[in-house]
Amino acid sequence: MAHIHSDNAVPPRGTREYFLYKRRVRTLGRRGGRLARFREIARHKRLTIEDTVSGALDPVFVSEYRYFVWNVGPVLCVYCNAALDKSTKTRDHLVPRSKGGPNGDNLVPSCACCNRAKADDSLLMFLHRRAS
Ligand SMILES: [Zn+2]
Repeated sequence: MAHIHSDNAVPPRGTREYFLYKRRVRTLGRRGGRLARFREIARHKRLTIEDTVSGALDPVFVSEYRYFVWNVGPVLCVYCNAALDKSTKTRDHLVPRSKGGPNGDNLVPSCACCNRAKADDSLLMFLHRRAS
């Protein structure tokens, strides 16, 4: 019978469990496991919006990255980098709905202020307007 806390303990040498433990350490590293993928994704936290939108990344990676951006790491406004929590987090349509932007792949976390300021503009128009 498996115990919940037995994951951290090194199994006795010579057993099948020890063999599997060594293989897991070899393939995933000592800090592998359930959150290893998210640690990998966290290293790419500074991806630009363009990277994500242009589809240059593996779709599986993109969906995990999106999960990370919304739920695991510190949630930041994509436009001004403000830290967001549950009450301040809003979903902005990168391509505005009025210009035919879909719901799924098109949503990015943003603060209410940037979301309101962007309104119905495209990303390019918004950045241009904000810079001037
Ligand atoms: Zn913002």
